[in-house]
Amino acid sequence: MSAAFMGVAQAARLVAQGQASSVELTQDFLSRAQAHQSLGAFLHLDAELALAQAKAADARRAAGGAASLNGVPIAHKDIFVTQDAPTTAGSKMLQGYRSPFDATVVARLKAAGAVSLGKLNCDEFAMGSANENSAYFPAKNPWDVQRVPGGSSGGSAVAVAAGLVAGCTGTDTGGSIRQPASFTGITGIKPTYGVCSRYGMIAFASSLDQAGPMARSAEDCALMLSAMAGFDELDSTSAQRPAADYVAQMTATREGASATHPLKGLRIGLPREFFPAALAADVNGAVRTALAELEKLGATLVDVSLPRTELSIPVYYIIAPAEASSNLSRFDGVKFGHRAQQYGDLLDMYKKTRAEGFGAEVKRRIMIGAYVLSHGYYDAYYLQAQKLRRMIADDFQQCFTQCDVIAGPVAPTVAWKLGQGSDDPLQAYLADIFTLPASLAGLPGMSVPAGLGDQGMPVGLQLIGNYFGEGTLLHTAHALQQATDFHLKTPEGVR
Ligand code: GLN
Repeated sequence: MSAAFMGVAQAARLVAQGQASSVELTQDFLSRAQAHQSLGAFLHLDAELALAQAKAADARRAAGGAASLNGVPIAHKDIFVTQDAPTTAGSKMLQGYRSPFDATVVARLKAAGAVSLGKLNCDEFAMGSANENSAYFPAKNPWDVQRVPGGSSGGSAVAVAAGLVAGCTGTDTGGSIRQPASFTGITGIKPTYGVCSRYGMIAFASSLDQAGPMARSAEDCALMLSAMAGFDELDSTSAQRPAADYVAQMTATREGASATHPLKGLRIGLPREFFPAALAADVNGAVRTALAELEKLGATLVDVSLPRTELSIPVYYIIAPAEASSNLSRFDGVKFGHRAQQYGDLLDMYKKTRAEGFGAEVKRRIMIGAYVLSHGYYDAYYLQAQKLRRMIADDFQQCFTQCDVIAGPVAPTVAWKLGQGSDDPLQAYLADIFTLPASLAGLPGMSVPAGLGDQGMPVGLQLIGNYFGEGTLLHTAHALQQATDFHLKTPEGVR
């Protein structure tokens, strides 16, 4: 049996029913990962450890005590600390770093029985939109290896899109789950801020960072999220809510719905600011096609407005660097990772260590962050941005009086060519326009495949829900995926 492009739900079922062993599936995914190394998805692949975990999963199944993801081969974005594998956050600063503990999300997926193949490439400290800010090597889009897979969870997106794992973890601060999912034709969900624990997730912008699953379908995401989510006393911003069964929420029948119209009564709001004249025609076309499918399933489309959409770019690019400059001060050559070899006094050691350890984008953000937080500029920039952040969140609440879910594109274009964005950071920042608003508001957002655009590149439909509305998003995406095959398309080059 080939595990190629097998999803989380199918792998879990096959192992649970004894139709495949976890060792068999793991072996198959490992050989695919090895055969497609040139895609740059993995920063660390550990066949020996993965097979040992798979063996243990098969033993648990034989003993009859297996959990929901028993034996399912996954991998983690290298921003999650792991005890049994190195963690780099895509940075030279943490080269060779070993964590003494597992991130909560990692521990929970392990407890659910998942097998980890290793650690996935990402932009340095999750800063970027193309995975080209990885200090190691870029990841390549399996739909066209001349193009980027998106970022910062680029390795995660590539691993799923190329069928190297059944599903994986990602993180999203301003779009890093949704945008790479969109660029590679997979399904990903960023939950409401606080749903997944940030404990052991290397911090970029603490008030925005959120973990989530990236996989082949809404069902796969629901299964993984059920294992990942839930209150964690080790994270002070973790939401104090009872554990949720996202698979049950995904399949629950809506009031008044029927088999042919599972989305009857669902009001989908289309913010006019998400469909500007500058939106690429192929993206607009694919998104409209997916929306028409949702209408066929019983949903109604309503016009809404998020008037401060454009402001989310300057607001995010003040708040995120401000928090980053503070979070990254811990990488000083004393406590973690890299330390310069040659230095004079302590200050010189700090300077040389940080000059050597951080890449250009990270340095840029530290400088912006330190600037906007400095005396005299704090009120003009940081405080102003915080006030606008609240207004952006309020705009969403206004929309949710008129609709249940908000929909639009994930990104203004399909994936661009490698190297195209690297010399103009501002251009890359502007492309985050549709993912930043939900991040700033702390709302859940999802990317669902919506077909192919120009040059056969994937396009994602973004769904945004109200706080803790993950179930509604998964339900909507699942209904779409039951009726269409957008999510089943796979890239030719990696069969
Ligand atoms: N592209 C955005 C940035 O560079 C978002 C990154 C993320 O979500 N981690 O900050």
